[in-house]
Amino acid sequence: MQNQYDVIVVGGGPAGATASGLLSKRGRRVLLLEKEKFPRYHIGESLIPGIMPVIRELGAEQALADLGAIVKHGVTLIWGANKSPWTIRFDEIEASVKTGESAPNPYAYEVKRAEFDNMLLTHSRRLGTTVIEEANVREAIFDGDRCVGVRYNRVPSSEVVEVRAPLVLDASGQTKLLGRRFDNVNWHPDMKNLAVWTYFQGGSRLEGKDAGNIVVEACAPGWLWMIPFSDNTCSVGFVAPGTQFAASDLPPAELLYKNIGEAGEIGRLLAGAVEVSQVRTAKDWSYVCEQVSGPGYLQVGDAAGFIDPLFSTGVMLAMRGGSLAAIAAERVLDAPESEVETLDHYEKEYHSILDIVVTFVRFFYDQNKPVEEYFEKARDLIDPEAERKAREDFIVLISGLDSAIGSRQMA
Ligand SMILES: Cc1cc2nc3c(=O)[nH]c(=O)nc-3n(C[C@H](O)[C@H](O)[C@H](O)COP(=O)(O)OP(=O)(O)OC[C@H]3O[C@@H](n4cnc5c(N)ncnc54)[C@H](O)[C@@H]3O)c2cc1C
Repeated sequence: MQNQYDVIVVGGGPAGATASGLLSKRGRRVLLLEKEKFPRYHIGESLIPGIMPVIRELGAEQALADLGAIVKHGVTLIWGANKSPWTIRFDEIEASVKTGESAPNPYAYEVKRAEFDNMLLTHSRRLGTTVIEEANVREAIFDGDRCVGVRYNRVPSSEVVEVRAPLVLDASGQTKLLGRRFDNVNWHPDMKNLAVWTYFQGGSRLEGKDAGNIVVEACAPGWLWMIPFSDNTCSVGFVAPGTQFAASDLPPAELLYKNIGEAGEIGRLLAGAVEVSQVRTAKDWSYVCEQVSGPGYLQVGDAAGFIDPLFSTGVMLAMRGGSLAAIAAERVLDAPESEVETLDHYEKEYHSILDIVVTFVRFFYDQNKPVEEYFEKARDLIDPEAERKAREDFIVLISGLDSAIGSRQMA
């Protein structure tokens, strides 16, 4: 019997919505199975400019603008040997783009993920994806070592439905449908953090163009984030090693309040603000799956690897990964005999992107270096021939705009 679909995508977050949308846009028959009913809550609200080329590829610029999200022009940090706030703006690098590189987007957005993810999934549906929500994928079906489909049930029914396709994309986020099946998740032992966060209304914002910046403030051995939204609320979170939480007499929520109280800049911005939500916590352990593809399948986004949110790279990695996965999937569908080579390429691309991000996050976690050392490290990683100023390399890296990242490599 002929397959009804070319590709089955598991998960409708940014990775799955991007990959499915791009494949549908190019005329492929895509089924996306999502466990939840959208819009659904998700953490990960500060976006970086590296998502914008993918938004354009999807043709979702207007849908994104319609969200009315606050524009993020840069990042304000209280980090490094000098404890005063310092700010980088994404538009600082516009003038220094190398020949042949496309101009970087000078801004990104701070978004409520329920709205952003719903926008992306709706957009994918408009592009032609068959989306089934409340479809819980229980397992992937294998024929030998080849993935040939999945089994799912429509919540609340427990009846199992089987669906098959030449390719399965695992975009199941931290569920890691295939990573767990293969038991090949490599945890980073030095980044076993926990996160605790809540939402406030009111307080104040940074001045002028910086009003939409994320504020990242070191509070050794952890750090705080403050992400402003357009409705005058903000998300405030504390990330620290799990060992610090375990050693503290305080429950996570109290540890969050204590650190806010002690933080100079974020404390100042929250003066007069009122908490408007329950406190949430999440395990924030970084990992990368040893292999992110194989016969008949690709993993993408958090299902392939998750890196500590210090630089807000998660959604960018999910969307750039989704774009990369869509290109790889098309190649395999068009030329099944090239599968090994295509997946090998995908594997190398994906790991090299994750390696750069993880190396830099690790280096940055040392909170006491002179700021110039962070800039130099960015240069070592992405611009060894020193074609830009080191500060610009830093901005390129934390914008997610490094030319090592994205679909150009597969093109
Ligand atoms: C504390 C914290 C703060 C963060 N802050 C940021 C930030 O500021 N900026 C940023 O860019 N990133 C941030 N991130 C990371 C970001 O949240 C993720 O990297 C991003 O959501 C990954 O997108 P994804 O599509 O891969 O996965 P997800 O967004 O998690 O989507 C996966 C989808 O798969 C569905 N699913 C799971 N299992 C199944 C199943 N069996 N069947 C069907 N569907 C399934 C889920 O319901 C979900 O909708 C943060 C993460 C943490 C933990």
